[in-house]
Amino acid sequence: HCRYITVSRMVVEVAQMASQEEVLERLRSSFLAGKTRDAKFRLSQLEALARFLEENRKEICHSLKMDLSKPQFESELSELSLVRSEINLALSSLSSWMKDEYVTKNLATTFDTAFIRKDPFGVVLIIGPWNYPVHLTLLPLVGAIAAGNCVIIKPSEISQHTERLLADHLPRYLDKDCFAVICAGADDTSRLLENKFDYIFFTGNTHVGKIVMAAAAKHLTPVTLELGGKNPCYVDEECDINNAARRISWSRYFNAGQTCLAPDYVLCTQKTRDQLVEALKATVMEFYGQDPKVSPDLGRIINNRHFHRVSALLSNGNIVLGGQTDEAEKYIAPTILIDVKESDPVMQEEIFGPVLPILTISGLDMAIEFINRRERSLATYVYSSKSQVVQQFLERTSSGGFCANDGLLHSTLMSLPFGGIGHSGMGKYHGKFSFDTFCHQRACLLRSDGREKLNEIRYPPYTQRHLGM
Ligand code: NAD
Repeated sequence: HCRYITVSRMVVEVAQMASQEEVLERLRSSFLAGKTRDAKFRLSQLEALARFLEENRKEICHSLKMDLSKPQFESELSELSLVRSEINLALSSLSSWMKDEYVTKNLATTFDTAFIRKDPFGVVLIIGPWNYPVHLTLLPLVGAIAAGNCVIIKPSEISQHTERLLADHLPRYLDKDCFAVICAGADDTSRLLENKFDYIFFTGNTHVGKIVMAAAAKHLTPVTLELGGKNPCYVDEECDINNAARRISWSRYFNAGQTCLAPDYVLCTQKTRDQLVEALKATVMEFYGQDPKVSPDLGRIINNRHFHRVSALLSNGNIVLGGQTDEAEKYIAPTILIDVKESDPVMQEEIFGPVLPILTISGLDMAIEFINRRERSLATYVYSSKSQVVQQFLERTSSGGFCANDGLLHSTLMSLPFGGIGHSGMGKYHGKFSFDTFCHQRACLLRSDGREKLNEIRYPPYTQRHLGM
């Protein structure tokens, strides 16, 4: 692949630019030839994608291990099985999703046929991130294929082993005239974005999301932006503190904290904090042992840049658990920070690492006020045994998704839309929502060319006519 050739950089870049355009042209002509319209074709491609996952399972887990030291269980759970169930759902639902939707009519169209046709957009670009590089690249691909589009898949160059695996192996399964993997870093992706796509689906950080949206605006291309942010987690005085600690630890330290949906910080009263810190310490010991560095169940930070970025946040507030780092391994221990101030750097950016700041507040009202002062997040978490408390958060805050008494789990339900609001993104996907995202709802009215008598009322001259309003 072009990017792996290390000879003359100039030559490589020119070759890559030309190939980007060639690829796009090839996909566009396949789309215009109607190749992806056929339901049978879509089903065959979804099955091929399932085969890719099945036959390369070991290699996929290996590249995730190389990129992120992902424990096999986490790879199976959060990368492979979710994509597999998305494919299964699309396979079993495609014919009903694709059906024209007949709609109610008015007097003037009584004898006609009115329906919504689920039209594919055309050539779609999917740009993936590095933290779940299989799941977040292939899950949207399922919806895009189901909806009948041609797709360019642009995996993250940061998770380089997975990128290479997708580039080398995925094209062996999918139709080459309709689907392609393009490897590109930030500069080449900017160049790729100069081309006209019919839809862009981007997952990544908010800053790059704005760049993608600005590039899309030049062609008036619609976008879905799946972005990040700081997900608040309120822990009420009335809750099962041990269960809360287990669920918060799991969702914070899963994938070494590099999860867009992870609880980013905890808000609770001082009394709850003291109990919670003890329970979290016990949980981390239970999950990862005395020395988490030797635990096979804790991942690593993706690269040096992020290792230094997250390590720098450890000087905020006071460490009550963890804090150890090892640059050679890109290891950061599961860490808890207390006495953190709202103005500290750790509260300015998404942490995206195994670090959990706990901020004390006076109670529910102050927590809600704190949350509403900030940009809207991808998720809001509330731990409480009182349903009124949960309801208060539901009614008085706003975020992409919401989960009471657990973390991350709402995103595993394909019957729920997944997506952000405000700075955490726009648009939604998963299951039927993915199919709808990648379809244009074409408004269709089919009339007969006869029955002209019925039309006379609307033609000029209008004198002597009224609509009876
Ligand atoms: P990123 O924005 O750095 O990169 C995402 C993709 O954009 C990559 O493929 C990259 O090559 C490309 N890219 C980077 N710079 C670019 C530029 N200047 N122009 C064009 N393309 C460019 O994001 P990341 O670091 O890979 O992922 C982490 C971020 O993604 C976090 O903020 C996280 O919260 C967010 N995220 C969101 C979701 C979600 O579903 N909402 C899921 C995972 C991650």
